[in-house]
Amino acid sequence: MSNQVKSAAVIGAGAMGGGIAQVLSQAGVRVFLKDINEDFVSRGLANIKKMFDSRVAKEVLTREKADELFANIIGTTKYEDIDKGVDLIIEAASEVIDIKLDIFRTLDKHCGPNTILASNTSALSISQIAAVTNRPERVLGIHFFNPAQAMKLVEVIPGVKTDKEVVQSIMDLCQNNLGKAPVKVKECPGFLVNRILFPYMNEALYVLQEGKFSPEEIDQKALEFGLPMGPLTLFDLTGIDICAHVVDFLYAEYGPRFKPAELLLVMMEEKVLGQKTGAGFYVHSKDRDKNAAKEVNPHLSELLKKANARVKDAPVSKADKFEVERIMMPMFNEVMYALQEDVVDAKDVDTAVAFGLGLKRGILSLAKERGLEACLLQLEKYQSELGGDTAQAERFRPAWMLKKLVRAQVHDFDALLSTCSKKEPVAAK
Ligand code: NAD
Repeated sequence: MSNQVKSAAVIGAGAMGGGIAQVLSQAGVRVFLKDINEDFVSRGLANIKKMFDSRVAKEVLTREKADELFANIIGTTKYEDIDKGVDLIIEAASEVIDIKLDIFRTLDKHCGPNTILASNTSALSISQIAAVTNRPERVLGIHFFNPAQAMKLVEVIPGVKTDKEVVQSIMDLCQNNLGKAPVKVKECPGFLVNRILFPYMNEALYVLQEGKFSPEEIDQKALEFGLPMGPLTLFDLTGIDICAHVVDFLYAEYGPRFKPAELLLVMMEEKVLGQKTGAGFYVHSKDRDKNAAKEVNPHLSELLKKANARVKDAPVSKADKFEVERIMMPMFNEVMYALQEDVVDAKDVDTAVAFGLGLKRGILSLAKERGLEACLLQLEKYQSELGGDTAQAERFRPAWMLKKLVRAQVHDFDALLSTCSKKEPVAAK
């Protein structure tokens, strides 16, 4: 099937739509790129042209080839211009459910029965989107990461009714034609990568809020662990409002272990949103020398005071030393929750973490290096430090699957992989 994707359409010519159109065209696919008005289409095409120009500058493509591939992208504002028989349509329009439902109703009517319809949504329900079409078995999520032309990871998300062959054909397309690393993820809030990223990001805020460690110390430990950037730097870069929106959504879906740190709410209220407002955890004014050392936002202590005044009686960790495990174990534990729900195959977790978060050593390496029992004990230690049964301690309640594996004396990483991936009973060691 993958070789049959000769033509496609992308709906939405914004940041993601442009990147996705470029990736498809580079694989020799003819692409229709649709947005709501000429200006947005032209802006999208201009961005794609820039991406091709940069590949020519880096000598990855010849000028001639780049021009030929660029000419394969046809901008339009009308559905009627899109061939009815295109093999695949990827919707990358604004993240508003009513807009997406409307687009899928229209696409379903417009396209031939064989067209696969996909959404690049970050969080909306694929099954809900599929349900407004007459072809839910040919609808799925294809979640590219930003920037789509550079990030290798793609989460492929079947809805409740998606055909297995449709999923496999998209996995093959991503892997064999688009040069991506696709990972199949069962539909759940946050899919895999955002679901496991935010417990770690949120915990960094709780640590900061406790007042013993600076943003630089927290970020530095994450770098030493192998992440390409610390969590507080990532907050500033992504935008504290965008992150708060994601954490709120995950909190509403999963409950207490995703409860946002008060500091996040205070920063939202004070409109201290990161790079876009000139300051977040660090200062980002335009006239700052880019090579100068980072400067912590001088107002951070006031923000912390405000946050702490609101959570006066909340239990805090008594530890005097900052261990990177305090922020990594919530990520590891969330992977365990995802594995117990069968959201992802264990063998794919570290691929997703490496290509989605840049953590090359993977997160399951914690199980490999220390053993599952040590991981469980560490979670239980933090859980007990935060008061055992308090709402705060929920952030460290170990997934039952981890306990089950430890009780079954599954000590090592390979046994974990084979237990989760093959669903074969693992002999006790
Ligand atoms: P964006 O705002 O840059 O672009 C969205 C584009 O969709 C706009 O140009 C808008 O005019 C267009 N649009 C809106 N309604 C439309 C319609 N009915 N028909 C055609 N075009 C329409 O947004 P983005 O960052 O590119 O995000 C697009 C999608 O990708 C969202 O669902 C988002 O959640 C998801 N996503 C974003 C990122 C990211 O980091 N930006 C990462 C992964 C997934």
